[in-house]
Amino acid sequence: MPSASPPPPTPLHLPGYALTYSGKVRDLYAPVDPATGAARDDQILLVASDRLSAFDFILETPIPDKGAVLTQLSLWWFEQLADLVPNHVVSTDVPAAVAGRAILVRRLEMLPVECVARAYLTGGGLREYHASGAVSGVALPEGLRDGDRLPEPIFTASTKAPVGEHDEPIPYAAVVDSLGADLAARARDLTVGILKRGNEIAADRGILIADTKVEFGLDGAGEMVLADEVLTPDSSRFWPADQWEPGHPQPSFDKEYVREWLTSPASGWDKSSGQAPPPLPEEVVERTRAKYVEAYERLTGRTFVGI
Ligand code: ATP
Ligand code: MG
Repeated sequence: MPSASPPPPTPLHLPGYALTYSGKVRDLYAPVDPATGAARDDQILLVASDRLSAFDFILETPIPDKGAVLTQLSLWWFEQLADLVPNHVVSTDVPAAVAGRAILVRRLEMLPVECVARAYLTGGGLREYHASGAVSGVALPEGLRDGDRLPEPIFTASTKAPVGEHDEPIPYAAVVDSLGADLAARARDLTVGILKRGNEIAADRGILIADTKVEFGLDGAGEMVLADEVLTPDSSRFWPADQWEPGHPQPSFDKEYVREWLTSPASGWDKSSGQAPPPLPEEVVERTRAKYVEAYERLTGRTFVGI
């Protein structure tokens, strides 16, 4: 129910850019051609806000620096993955008002599926597995526990639901119906390849990437291009490797901490009520920010410099 979410905060007014779309986290602007005053249709300024979404609600409390962390981490990963998949980045030369948290990208025709790969079983995948022994139609061995590593990373697609609605898991056959066999196979292989490469790199930094969601688009030549964000704490589950212990939920560097607080008695919020979640207390905001920054710093080996 989209109406259950509070509207996202009003996006910025950026001279020379026209707002075209506001997602849960990102605002999209088209550069305006100064000669004609017309919005360009080949490029987008992708601006990551500090908004956090949980349980399909956009929370009213922003997490300071989150947009910059997501943007800087995605840029770093795009480079690590460049030999595997082309990406949408054009330039990081962006207006000063959004410096550090915006990227000028190629505007792509986005595929209408959320591409998910899982290397470990938890969350929604675990719930599906308990109900059916499979995740998005992929049958798994018996007896797996929360946090277990899968024999091989699997591709589990879901629908791309509008803001405020749930993405629904779909079997691979439905991806083939939607994209055709060739594009479906390429999306699957790239998604699994990105998670595998991500885990190879993260392993050296003491992080396990349990699962991740990526989005692809097609460029003018019909080539599949990695878009949106990649291997960030919003799109992935990051676990500290030294604390990995299957059989119960794992500590994590992502927004799981916020989800836990929201569903704890401390928040006073009833997830099933349909009401918007309450504001986050200062301590939860600070710990969440610290987790996002730590994920960035551990993975990239860089120190996060705020803007
Ligand atoms: P979520 O990512 O949680 O599913 P969302 O779609 O609201 O939700 P945002 O990240 O807030 O996500 O919004 C970014 C939007 O921009 C998405 O709709 C995404 O498909 C789109 N997008 C990202 N990169 C490109 C691109 N290169 N060309 C066209 N659209 C893009
Ligand atoms: Mg997104």
